[in-house]
Amino acid sequence: MGKNPDPSWEELELIFKGFSENQDEQTIREEIQESMSVPKSKRFICQRKLHFDVARKVLQVAITREIDPVIIEQRKHHFAQLADITKNLLENGVDTIKIACHDLIESEYQIAQKDGALSEIDKEGISNELERNLYNLCLDQGSWDFENLFLPHFSEEYTGLKGKYWEQVLEENPYEIAASLRILARRATFGGICPICKDW
Ligand SMILES: [Zn+2]
Repeated sequence: MGKNPDPSWEELELIFKGFSENQDEQTIREEIQESMSVPKSKRFICQRKLHFDVARKVLQVAITREIDPVIIEQRKHHFAQLADITKNLLENGVDTIKIACHDLIESEYQIAQKDGALSEIDKEGISNELERNLYNLCLDQGSWDFENLFLPHFSEEYTGLKGKYWEQVLEENPYEIAASLRILARRATFGGICPICKDW
């Protein structure tokens, strides 16, 4: 007896609404008395107030970040960087790779040539094309961005990569990688975080 049981969602909502309207502890207790199953002590309300204040402070920082023009610009630039890497990985027709129509060709996949004609490509072929694109990308920009920025975001989008090496997945599921890249290229926003955007 005398112990406060854990409050329900509705009870907390009522208490927090009171805090947000700057009601004092006494008023909140009076207001909620009727709807509460067990009357709440002053200590109980004060503890909830502490939780509320902490949550409000954290949220305020998060909201400030959301609307900070500098951070918005940084995020925009970051997504552009990631989109650029995605685009590079889709070069040389990788963005056109589809599962083949069975009655047309024997291979499981098809790829469009520069003139639009379709040709066969197998799993190994897709893997090779992706590898070549990555090689060219690294030749041009180095591998740091790919490894430290792109992969953490991409593994959030393509969950088959989680806990595995890129090389391994590239060998095992190259079509799935190409398909995920294509979706990302269209969407141009990226889930997940990397060392660069973790504090935004
Ligand atoms: Zn990032």
